[in-house]
Amino acid sequence: MEKKIILVTGGTGLIGKAIENIVNEEKQDNEEWIFVGSKEADLCDKKSTEQLFEKYKPTHVIHLAAMVGGLFHNMAHNLDFFRNNLHINDNVLQTAHENNVIKVVSCLSTCIFPDKTIYPIDETMIHNGPPHPSNYGYSYAKRLLDVANHAYLEQNNRLYTSIIPCNVFGPHDNFNPHSSHVIPGLMRKLYDLIKNGNTEDKIFTVLGSGKPLRQFIYSLDLAKLILWVLREYNSVEPIILSVDEKDEVSISKVAETLSKAFDFKGKIVYDTTAADGQYKKTASNSKLRNYLPAMQFTSFENAIKETVNWYRSNYNIARN
Ligand code: NDP
Repeated sequence: MEKKIILVTGGTGLIGKAIENIVNEEKQDNEEWIFVGSKEADLCDKKSTEQLFEKYKPTHVIHLAAMVGGLFHNMAHNLDFFRNNLHINDNVLQTAHENNVIKVVSCLSTCIFPDKTIYPIDETMIHNGPPHPSNYGYSYAKRLLDVANHAYLEQNNRLYTSIIPCNVFGPHDNFNPHSSHVIPGLMRKLYDLIKNGNTEDKIFTVLGSGKPLRQFIYSLDLAKLILWVLREYNSVEPIILSVDEKDEVSISKVAETLSKAFDFKGKIVYDTTAADGQYKKTASNSKLRNYLPAMQFTSFENAIKETVNWYRSNYNIARN
């Protein structure tokens, strides 16, 4: 079998670390894996990107690197999210092409879909209307990855494709209160709230009404699916990697599951003066299910428990 050298950009992040974990469990002899973060190369910079490709000479790329953040971080920095992601994506795809990389799997997200749409959303709807105003910078930059993939195929016959994960969580997430997504943000809050005493008078404040619905995928489940895409999925068209529609949960369910996992003794309160973001963005995984009907996802409760256990044991090294 031909040897593959697989470069994972964003290899130090939540999803990159999960892929590293799965790859270490099920090594394939013909694959060499390289995981890089921003210390190794600034992908906003073309020269730095070229040096990275020159150094490792990848045949395949899983392109995860991005400026990523939760609702409140996005709302305040739409220009930065737009420009940084635009530069990173253009540099990675063009440098991959210049270096004859055979396959690139890039990462879109279910939160870049049109705000006003019918549900469930599917892969054909990405460009059908403006995204939610809270994260339009990130969304348009990500949508252009799909445009670029089609153009690289048409003009240069490259198989550069993309995946569309729903919300991801797991070990090695970003727990920084200013830039985290909802699960790690709430996890950090709860951890800090009870670290000096888990008493009944503690109040766990959740921003928003608790009503919005989301699909969450455990990072280790997603990592397995990304390996399948790299090895088996050979279409330029994006594919949604999400749990089933029936597994959508409300933010209040997230808060309750976290409270249970931490054995929190106090009270949960919802601050309804804070923004809720999109009410829901239910995605259909039926394309994925056609390929992998038997795929079993880790239950939300178990995945939360494992993540909380990881966070408790790794608080000192976690991205706080
Ligand atoms: P993280 O924030 O955990 O990691 C981001 C990664 O990108 C890090 O490895 C970081 O490197 C790297 N990076 C950021 N900027 C640069 C840069 N200028 N040059 C080089 N590397 C850079 O992200 P996730 O693992 O959560 O996300 C990975 C991908 O998945 C992203 O494309 C994101 O848009 C997408 N996605 C994520 C979802 C989620 O819920 N988390 C949902 C759907 C899609 P370092 O840490 O070393 O600075």
